[in-house]
Amino acid sequence: MNEKKGIGSKITGLVTKDTTGENESVKVIIVIRLLLISVFVYFLINMGIIWNVLDSRGLVFCVIFAIGMIALFYLSYRLRVTMASWAFCLGILVFAWCNLEWFGWNIGVQHFLSIILLLVFFVGYERYLYKFLLAGLTMALRLFFYYRFYGGAPVYEIPQRLGNILQILNTVTIFWCLSVICYMFSKDSRELEGKLVRYNEKLRGEALTDNLTGLANRRRAFDYVEQLVTENSVEAFSLCMCDIDFFKKVNDTWGHDCGDVVLKKIADIFRNEMSRQSLPCRWGGEEFLLLFPGKNGDDAYEILMRIRDAIKKMVVMYEGHEVKVTMTFGLTEYSFGKSLDDNVQEADEKLYYGKNHGRDQIVF
Ligand code: GH3
Ligand code: MG
Ligand code: MG
Repeated sequence: MNEKKGIGSKITGLVTKDTTGENESVKVIIVIRLLLISVFVYFLINMGIIWNVLDSRGLVFCVIFAIGMIALFYLSYRLRVTMASWAFCLGILVFAWCNLEWFGWNIGVQHFLSIILLLVFFVGYERYLYKFLLAGLTMALRLFFYYRFYGGAPVYEIPQRLGNILQILNTVTIFWCLSVICYMFSKDSRELEGKLVRYNEKLRGEALTDNLTGLANRRRAFDYVEQLVTENSVEAFSLCMCDIDFFKKVNDTWGHDCGDVVLKKIADIFRNEMSRQSLPCRWGGEEFLLLFPGKNGDDAYEILMRIRDAIKKMVVMYEGHEVKVTMTFGLTEYSFGKSLDDNVQEADEKLYYGKNHGRDQIVF
């Protein structure tokens, strides 16, 4: 088991070992080395299969290619990445051509050109015009092969069964090589894309959330109301401005940190008492805007009663002291003909009224 691991990590080490050139793409060279290994194995199998069809010339040909792949693998540590890649493509091209000459069109060897096509786009940082030109050249070669070899008599007439086996071997090898290239080059961009999406969501979330309480902030409130109004999805909609009573006194008596704890506890009450559709927002300081889509004033009033009671009952223990607060609420039904600012203004006036008439109450 250990030995197996040792061999595995040795091969991984061989494949991932960096190139000598600076600023080279390690990923490209890993792809090329994986392809070289794959094609080397393919040559060995190919050699075994066509052993009894070819004369010594053909055998020498296969051996030369297998050795060529080993040599390229070795050279991939010394050559520049792009040079190693083009040498690989050239090798593949010559191999495909010779196979077409000897065994004809039916063994599917012409599809090796699609590996070259992918490498043209993934290897090197040349201009796209250049890449498209090379792609066009590959296509022209494919057409040339078609006109030259399709329907023509190959040098070696191979039995149907052997032709089928070669077709399968070529198909498996080509699909494997294409998969290796696609996997290696799509892996990172997919991961990167996923990371970017998550990072953007995080940034967006942070930009719309209040740091201290974790509630939505004023910006989010505007977005939310704008969405509600444009979607026209709710018949009734109430909103409430509320403010902690004598909060300055809490800060002055127990300190700013204690005030922060009170703010967080109040935010928890909002979250607990309000339904999923409703949205509590920190408007600023110790003022909150509570949005109740789908609720008319009476429905929202009932919820606010529960919130007000919960806040009144709340005891915040801070450094051994019991801290208690109350809140005043200004509730209004949303007028769809007016802007959010105007609606907030209306709720604010009610809140102001409550502040001037004893606090700790809901003004509707
Ligand atoms: P009122 O009942 O009229 O609303 O009285 P008040 O003392 O609550 O109102 P005032 O506007 O005089 O004071 C608000 C205080 O809220 C002052 C400010 O320091 C405090 N405050 C605002 N934001 C924060 C915060 O994030 N953390 C803490 N701890 N205090 C805050
Ligand atoms: Mg206050
Ligand atoms: Mg205030």
